[in-house]
Amino acid sequence: LSDKLDKALHVLKGHGSITEVNVAETLKEVRRALLDADVNFKIAKQFTNTVKEKALGQNVLTTLQPGQLMVKIVKDELTQLMGGDAEGINLSGNPSVILMSGLQGSGKTTFSGKLANYLKTKKTKKPLLVACDVYRPAAIDQLHIVGDQINVEVYSDIGNSDPVAIAQAGIAHAKANGHNVVIIDTAGRLAVDEAMMTEISNIHKAIQPQETLFVVDSMTGQDAVNTAKAFNDILNFDGVILTKLDGDTRGGAAISIKSVVNKPIKFIGTGEKMEAIDVFYPSRMADRILGMGDVVSLVERAQEQYDEEEARKLQKKIAKNQFGFDDFLKQIQQIKKMGNMKDLIGMIPGAGKMMKDVDVDDDAFKGIEAIIHSMTPDERSTPSVINASRKKRIAKGSGTSVQEVNQLLKQFTQMSKMMKMMQGGGGKRMMQMMKN
Ligand code: GDP
Ligand code: MG
Repeated sequence: LSDKLDKALHVLKGHGSITEVNVAETLKEVRRALLDADVNFKIAKQFTNTVKEKALGQNVLTTLQPGQLMVKIVKDELTQLMGGDAEGINLSGNPSVILMSGLQGSGKTTFSGKLANYLKTKKTKKPLLVACDVYRPAAIDQLHIVGDQINVEVYSDIGNSDPVAIAQAGIAHAKANGHNVVIIDTAGRLAVDEAMMTEISNIHKAIQPQETLFVVDSMTGQDAVNTAKAFNDILNFDGVILTKLDGDTRGGAAISIKSVVNKPIKFIGTGEKMEAIDVFYPSRMADRILGMGDVVSLVERAQEQYDEEEARKLQKKIAKNQFGFDDFLKQIQQIKKMGNMKDLIGMIPGAGKMMKDVDVDDDAFKGIEAIIHSMTPDERSTPSVINASRKKRIAKGSGTSVQEVNQLLKQFTQMSKMMKMMQGGGGKRMMQMMKN
């Protein structure tokens, strides 16, 4: 979607003059892009009509920067379509019960864990996860694995085939053990069917959750709308969770679902890791769809993950010339904690397009990590001791080549120099270097 819109808006962006002809052309492209992203036909048409009216109303053609104004109108309209301000989760109950619904594979179990982790760390809540997917033993295991990862208790009752009873028992367990949030993970099926709808509806009626969330895979396109509608008809849910918005995902689902069920999108999932959760901001999403990047989220996420204490220690080390491979390894782990690399790069304006054909993933660091792991503590803290025979040993131990070891050593030396420079007297000298 972004590529197409990028192209469509390119005509207008930066260009000083627009004619009525290329406004129409642009709108046609915008509409095609929306349709390609599986936005419902009616909604796409309505959208472009509104944009056109606004553009004419604001006299786009006679303003100084018509391109920018047009982009703003498209963006504002997209933002409007996807909902107003970000809405939180109702946590007023004691315990607050949150029910997950959605098709199999949509990301319910993963998101249950992400949400528990989020509420635990951000809102200092004490959540309990409840495993109500009784059809596959593996599903219960999966939730336990997730719970272990984030240190959140999981309530399950293996052998019990009644999800309503498990949900109720889970809530009772929460009350007895001081949990103030209960997240109920349920079973889904591959497509909407009566048995699934009856089951989720029964659970919903029995436990009367404060918050019912509909989880949907943003890559399912047009189908997402039909599924959302079916679940909303039965549950009248409170919010939508849009998962798998990492990678080549179509933003179209956000637009269509919101317009069809008129429920807020509350969170997005941007990866498989427990940290890959973000509050949904319509305006940021609009930016993303329009290919402007999502710098604000990127900065926020980087800040959250970065341990300040760690940073201070590092600064001291750099200043004293003690930065070694162990610190380098820590840096890599820090970067990895921030989430999927592709995902992060995609948030940098312009970079998404540039890096499209470059395969960047967490594996990018695998070789580097292996090499560092094969070094002795001495070699890590004083890389200068690494001679030819040591290089050979390290290469062998890490399953890489001497060439790769050399490359890493070279990169490391450069990086240390650069860090040193940015530290002391800093910016000025750096600028000087770049000018030369
Ligand atoms: P459930 O059947 O609804 O419980 O779905 P799961 O939570 O088991 O997720 C199905 C698959 O999607 C798993 O492989 C997850 O790791 C993956 N998944 C879930 N959320 C995301 C996401 O936001 N991004 C990506 N890339 N994968 C996700
Ligand atoms: Mg599941």
